[in-house]
Amino acid sequence: MIRARELLRRAFATLAAAAFLTSLWAGARYGAAGGEARPVAAAVDEDQPMYYVRTTDKVLGLTFDISWGTKAVEDVLAVLRDHRIRATFFLSGPWSAQHPDLVRRIARDGHEIASHGQAHVNLSQRSEAEIAANLSDAARILVGLTGQTPRFFRPPNGDFDRRVVRIAREQGQETVIWSVDSLDWIQRDPAAIAARVVRGAFPGAVLLFHASDSAPSTAAALPAVFEELTRMGYRFVPLGDLLKYGPPAREDPRGRPYKPNMGR
Ligand SMILES: [Zn+2]
Repeated sequence: MIRARELLRRAFATLAAAAFLTSLWAGARYGAAGGEARPVAAAVDEDQPMYYVRTTDKVLGLTFDISWGTKAVEDVLAVLRDHRIRATFFLSGPWSAQHPDLVRRIARDGHEIASHGQAHVNLSQRSEAEIAANLSDAARILVGLTGQTPRFFRPPNGDFDRRVVRIAREQGQETVIWSVDSLDWIQRDPAAIAARVVRGAFPGAVLLFHASDSAPSTAAALPAVFEELTRMGYRFVPLGDLLKYGPPAREDPRGRPYKPNMGR
């Protein structure tokens, strides 16, 4: 007897195959018209950002965005040092230029330096030339301060379109959104921030926090996040390390009623 779940699975497989064929058809049609030389099926997938990593290992990508202030970042760095945890920091170009010593200290503490772009604007509303300049201006500042070319890019406000992802890739940067938003820039109660992240975590997830002064409760929330999730068997790593556990997943898991990578 075929169970309802199996029937559902088959229906989804059929739908997925139909969607794939449709995308091939559309890609061939419009790709050819646009004179696109790259294989179309690959372009369809790769012009999406990374949201998490496909793995069943209990490992989490820990990320912080910074575009304003100096207090929150000091507090966050202290907590990370206490717990001996390394993370990826997405730094805005202007903030980095204003706080070169802090940028160098983040790098010296062993954290991964990534780009949060230049002007904090919605890049999907900008021309390709503006997108390219936004990315390259920020990268130039980060390279000048740390000697490291950023490998990852998080668009301001998490706003992107296919052009943003493609232009970032052309500049050697992988666009990364997130799987779990701590909402630490809205929520002021550390326990509520921690509970939200613990609830949302799954193997390979990318956690979004801020170390800007607009998020004053992040450092106070982190110890509970680390302790709870460590107790559940999770480890925290920067994105470069997370990608050693599996390939980037380019579909958005946010708001889904199930967690990916949990064997369902
Ligand atoms: Zn931001």
